[in-house]
Amino acid sequence: IINRCTIEFASIPENVAFARVAVAAFASQLDCTLPELEEIKVAVSEAVGNAIIHGYRNKPDKTVRVIVTIYKEGLEIRVEDCGTGIADIDLAMQPAYSTDPERMGLGFVFMQSFSDRLQVDSSPGQGTTVTMFK
Ligand code: ATP
Ligand code: MG
Repeated sequence: IINRCTIEFASIPENVAFARVAVAAFASQLDCTLPELEEIKVAVSEAVGNAIIHGYRNKPDKTVRVIVTIYKEGLEIRVEDCGTGIADIDLAMQPAYSTDPERMGLGFVFMQSFSDRLQVDSSPGQGTTVTMFK
């Protein structure tokens, strides 16, 4: 590990923008390009948005944790919630799949396109951890 940062915040939608900017600020100590920083922001927004909207069903008094680690090999972004969890992870990750008919079901597509490796660990009732490695 070269550097690590952990942030925890309340599960309110305003904090999606906070998390996106905070992670991009931390990651900017790497020599990443502006388009790469934009990709990081999108991926973080999608993962944190999912934690709030799906994980916590928009309950505002819960906690989302984001851990960013800079390794010699690259950048890892981990987003954790202790919410509802995902029953079928493979299904949830299918492009255009959503449990909400109003949504596009593209969050995991963006996370996948950002990441060299995307790992989703989840169990119903326990919560979800999304780990993106670039
Ligand atoms: P969009 O991201 O385009 O607004 P979406 O959030 O439904 O739509 P994805 O982000 O790809 O699409 O997520 C797919 C599905 O996976 C969600 O509809 C939801 O059922 C489930 N899911 C994703 N993240 C979580 C989470 N943290 N907790 C519980 N369920 C989740
Ligand atoms: Mg989503």
